[in-house]
Amino acid sequence: MTRKQKQLSFLPEAKREKFQPPWEQARSLEELEQIVSDCRSCRLRDSCRQVVFGEGNSKAEIMLVGEGPGRAEDEIGRPFVGAAGELLDKIFSAAGLQRAEVFICNVVKCRPPGNRLPTPDEVRACLPYLRAQLRIIKPKIVISLGALASQTLIDPSVRITRDRGRWISKDGLLIMPTFHPAALLRDPKKKKPVWDDIQAVMRRYEQMKG
Ligand code: SF4
Repeated sequence: MTRKQKQLSFLPEAKREKFQPPWEQARSLEELEQIVSDCRSCRLRDSCRQVVFGEGNSKAEIMLVGEGPGRAEDEIGRPFVGAAGELLDKIFSAAGLQRAEVFICNVVKCRPPGNRLPTPDEVRACLPYLRAQLRIIKPKIVISLGALASQTLIDPSVRITRDRGRWISKDGLLIMPTFHPAALLRDPKKKKPVWDDIQAVMRRYEQMKG
C-alpha cells in the first residue's frame, strides 16, 4: 500500500475514489492503457513515437518487466519485438512457455532517447502505471529483466550480476531477477545463467499449478 493509499484508507470507498488518481481506479488493463496512452508526465513522451504499454495475458501468472522500449518497440508499439525480444521468445519456447501466457512490459512506457537508461525522475513518474498493471494482473511470479527493473521492483541496492537467480519476496510478489536479453546479445556467456533462472521459474510455476 502506498503512503497516499494509507492516508486515504480511513475514508469510505466512494469518498476514497474521489481522491484516487485515474490509474488507481482503473479496473481493467484496457482502461489503464487508455489512461497511460494519454500520459505526458515526463519528458520521454516528447521524443518517442508512442507509449508502449505492454502486452499479453491479462490474467498472467508470470509477468516480465524490462527497463524501457527500444527503437523497434517504439516504432511498432509492442514490447520486446527487436533482437532482444526474438531471443526472449526463443528462450520461452525452449522452456515450454508461450508468449501469450505471460504479460510483458517495461518500467517506463516511453522510449528513452538513444536507448539511454531512464533517469530516476522518469522512473518515478512512470512507476504508478507499473504498480497498476501489477494490481490488475496479480501475477504469481515476476521476472525482472536487468538491473534497472530489478532495482525498481526489489531495491536500489540490487546488483544484477550478484543477485540474479535468487528468489526475492517483496510487496506480495515473488520476483526472479535475471539479465536483460539485450545483455545476452552483447555477452553470450550470460545465456547459461538466464537459462538456469528461467528453468527455476518454470519449476516454481509448475509447483504452483500443482
Ligand atoms: S514514460 Fe511513463 S510517465 Fe513518462 S510520459 Fe511515458 S507513460 Fe508518461
